[in-house]
Order: sequence, then structure tokens, then C-alpha cells
Amino acid sequence: MPLLVANVPWPGEDIDPTAVVAAHLALPEAALAAVRLLKRSVDGRRRPPTWLANYRVDLSGGEQAEAALLRSPPHGVRPFTARDEVRFADQDPASVPRVAWPAGHRPIVVGAGPAGLFAALRLGEAGAPAILLERGEPVERRHHDVRAFWRHARLDPDSNVVFGEGGAGAFSDGKIYTRRRDGELGWVFRRLVEHGADPAVLEEGWAHLGTDRIREILPRLRARLAELGVEVRFRARAEGFLVEGGRCVGVRLATGEELRGAPVLVATGHSARDTWQAMLEAGAAAEQRPIHIGARVEHPQRLIDEARYGPGLFGSARGGLPAASYRLTSNPPGGRARPAHTFCMCPGGTVVAATNLPERVVVNGMSYSGRRAAYANSAVVVEVTPADYPGSDPLAGARFQDAIEARAWQVGGGEFRAPAQLVSDLLAGRASGGVPRVSYTLGVTPGDLREVLPEPLVEGMVAALRHFDRQIAGFAGPEAVLIAPETRTTAPLRFLRGPDYQSPTLPGLVPLGEGAGYAGGIASAALDGFRAAQALIERTCPARA
Ligand SMILES: Cc1cc2nc3c(=O)[nH]c(=O)nc-3n(C[C@H](O)[C@H](O)[C@H](O)COP(=O)(O)OP(=O)(O)OC[C@H]3O[C@@H](n4cnc5c(N)ncnc54)[C@H](O)[C@@H]3O)c2cc1C
Repeated sequence: MPLLVANVPWPGEDIDPTAVVAAHLALPEAALAAVRLLKRSVDGRRRPPTWLANYRVDLSGGEQAEAALLRSPPHGVRPFTARDEVRFADQDPASVPRVAWPAGHRPIVVGAGPAGLFAALRLGEAGAPAILLERGEPVERRHHDVRAFWRHARLDPDSNVVFGEGGAGAFSDGKIYTRRRDGELGWVFRRLVEHGADPAVLEEGWAHLGTDRIREILPRLRARLAELGVEVRFRARAEGFLVEGGRCVGVRLATGEELRGAPVLVATGHSARDTWQAMLEAGAAAEQRPIHIGARVEHPQRLIDEARYGPGLFGSARGGLPAASYRLTSNPPGGRARPAHTFCMCPGGTVVAATNLPERVVVNGMSYSGRRAAYANSAVVVEVTPADYPGSDPLAGARFQDAIEARAWQVGGGEFRAPAQLVSDLLAGRASGGVPRVSYTLGVTPGDLREVLPEPLVEGMVAALRHFDRQIAGFAGPEAVLIAPETRTTAPLRFLRGPDYQSPTLPGLVPLGEGAGYAGGIASAALDGFRAAQALIERTCPARA
């Protein structure tokens, strides 16, 4: 049986690891027949921090030699099991034959974010003549629209940081932090690599794509969809759903055009409140769901690097180490304050304006693949439950978010300037008269975040920030700035769906991805899209799935 050799220092890109692995096993290099990299990540607890890798190793002496070694295995060595075989498979375990799709079954996918794109890709691979509708622009144009917004506060409500080809994940850090690369997730990761992602994402424990890379992947995915016979339409906003005999049979576009097709897979993301309304009006049932809300905290990346890696280890002195990151949680005992955590940390990134609505302020974080910006940011977000919402209907959570976003516009003083406060001032209970330079391009208005966020959320943030400051020196120090509000962490409602992925109250409509309450990031949204498409393929062409 081959061996799994864990936690071996990684020798670097394009360097044959045989010598280091042999040294780790105290064997001559000739004793190793094959060495395959499985995964690598930085161990920040070591001084100095070190890249470590796990390998699959076959010994030249075959099973006998491996069994002999396993009798008294060196540290971190164990058999490479059948489960590992599945987990680290480099095959595509889920490919489907491409066959003629039954006439009269033209699926409509609404939304070209990760859920919609990967659903359409899977359907296309199976031969379905699907149509993919996207309210925004292709990523090249969208990029210009987003730049115009970030530079000149000119907002296009349909082409912005959350709407347009690639969905909300297109202008992001592109974190795809999942421990697994097998099965369906393996399919997602391999498709990303086939269309331009760095193959290292297949091996890195903390893989991320970066906005620049995502911008290269999307046009290739679009071209692949066209090759597969999927029709992609931009500036095609679904405004209503056609219902006949209690079933969803198509969509009505904002232009008035009606498109018939079924099922309708609705993957419109966490910001398409107008589409939620239309889905509810058409008869799809939904329920409220808890979310998290707070503010982005920004520090110099240097501060995080030094806290994580040691004094002086920042910038070029970091060598091959990545910009350091963190993930922190706070759960004050006795319920003194609400639980909170850091969310969507962007090392070497920037805080960005991320609204799709005029006169609303929403912030988020993004980075490029090199993560070279001088700042680190994350959202410090606090639990919000349906008990906080102003009503019991499914859209009450969206109204709760919206009220905060509107207040932030007022407090920020308009033109998408964001309210900001020094962490130290928030902890001291005083408004900030000024803040250091921040990465948010549309300007910030120093003040008191208590004017923007409800008191229980501020209390949760205060408790969390005190706790985080004990874990990362300087987290609440004079360089730490809060920029608010971060409201769009996920959808505050979930559309019901049955085991066949369809709405039980509106068959023919398939609620999908983050906006429907079934995903919380790029990878999970893509996976949800894949699974729903697969269920549809199995239902429509049982013999071929
Ligand atoms: C700035 C930012 C940074 C992020 N960083 C990360 C990260 O690093 N890692 C991570 O995993 N996640 C990140 N996320 C979250 C991630 O982007 C989402 O979880 C993911 O994109 C959800 O995928 P989705 O396909 O369900 O929805 P979305 O990506 O939101 O896509 C929905 C799509 O539907 C379209 N649409 C909406 N309404 C209609 C309509 N009526 N008709 C036609 N089209 C419509 C929208 O234009 C959009 O393209 C980030 C989000 C933001 C905003």
C-alpha cells in the first residue's frame, strides 16, 4: 500500500521533492519510486513559519518495503488508504456522457454567479440546450463599470460588485477554502483549473483565486458554455416568473420578453432582493434565516504578518510566505454579548464599496491573486436572528439589512462615503474625529458606528474586538480602523426546496445558491449549482446520468 507522508517541508515551486521526502523517511532517494504532492499549507506556528506539504509516496521495493516501513513509521507517515484515494483522486469522478437532450426540455438558469455558471456548465456537458440569463454585463465591461463606481461614485444598479458575469465572487479575494478536492468538489476545482485557475489550487489547503485571475477564467468559461450549446444572455434581468397550472414554466424579462423553458433554476445571489420578491409573488415559499452583520476592520498587512510570523517578517522580508491571515471567533460566556467572528479575511487586500442600490452603503473586501496590497481586512460580524427582523415575513431580514445600509448612507454623508471609526475609539465609547488612511476609495466619514449599527451588534463587536486584541497584538491598536456596514454576508431567507431541488410550492422553479439560502461562498455555491444540475440530468435522462 502506498504511503501518506505528512508535514514535510515543501521545497518550492518546480523543485523535485524526492530528496526532501527521502530525507524525511531516512531512505536513499533511489528507494522512492514515485512522489506525488497532495496538499501544501503554511504552518504559522513554527518559528520561522514554514511551508509544509503532504505527499503520496510509492517505494521502489513495493508493498513489502512499505509494510516494513509502516511497522515503525517515522512521524507523519501512515498508509495511503482507499479513502485518501477518493479524496485526492485526480480523475474526474463525475463526468457524464453528452447525449441528445429530450425535446421540449430547455432549462433556464437565472444568474451567472458560481451557482448558475456551474449549473449551466454541467447541464451543457450533459447536452442540455440551456439558456443562462444574467442581469449584468460580461466581466470585461463589468470591470469598467465597477472602476467607474469605485473612482467616481457612478453606480450601475445592474453591473456592479454584486451583479454581472461571475456574480458576487468576481470582485473578491476568491477564497476557495475547502479541505476536499474529491468527487463533486473535485469537478468544480478541475473545471476552474481547466479554464485558467492556477493548478496550485488543487493542492493548497487555503487556496484563493484573486480578482485578476477570476477575470481571466470567466471569458473562458463563457466560451466553453457557447461550445456546449448553452446560450448566454447579458443585460437579461428576469423580472417575473411565468406560472401555469401551479408550475413555473418560464420567466419574464425586464424588457417584457417572455421566455418559456423549464425548469427555471434561480441562482440570483444574496443581493437580488427584487428577484426574491418576484419568486415569492409567483408562489415559491421561503422562511427567515439568521445572518451576521458588522463592519470591516482594516490593519496594515505588516501588523498581521508580524503577529503571525514574528518580528520583522513582513513585506519582502516574508520571503516565500504568503500574506498572513487569521480567522477569529468570540463567544462571550454567559451570553454577555452576542457571538461574533471574523469573516472573509482578505490578506493584502482592500475594502470596497459593494452596493447595487443607490443611496445605500455596503462594504466588503477583495484582493488580487498576489495579495500584495499594504492592508489586511476582514469583516467582524455579529449574529443576527429573525427575532431582530421587523416582521415575520420572509423579506423582513432584507428590510433589516436595508435600514442599516440606508442609515450608513446618511451618516456617511452621501456619495457612498462609508462611516468609519477607530477600533480604539469604539472600545472607549467615543466618536472618532479622524482615522488613518484606508483602502476604501470612495472616502470615509469618521464618527461613531453606534449611529449606524443597532446596539446589540455594537456590543458584540466590542466584546469580539477586545478578545481578538488578546490574540493578535495591535488588533485594537491605533492603526485599526472599522469601516461600515458589512450587511451582505449571506441571504436572510431560505427558499424551501424538496429532494429534487424544486420548490415544493412552485414545481418547475429550482432555488439555487447563496441567494436561495443554500451556499455561503464561491465553492459551496458552485457545488450547489452542480448538484441541482445533476439532479435535473438524472430526472430528465435517467439512463444517461
Ligand atoms: C466583495 C465580495 C467578496 C467576496 N469574497 C469571497 C471569497 O473570497 N470567497 C468566497 O467563497 N466567497 C466570497 N464572496 C461571496 C461569494 O461571492 C458568494 O458566496 C457567491 O458568489 C454566491 O454565488 P451565487 O452564484 O449563489 O450568487 P452570486 O454570485 O451572487 O450570483 C448571482 C448572479 O445572479 C445575477 N442576477 C441577480 N438577479 C438576477 C435576475 N433577476 N436576472 C438575471 N440575473 C440576475 C447577478 O447579477 C449575479 O451575477 C464575496 C462576495 C463579495 C460581494
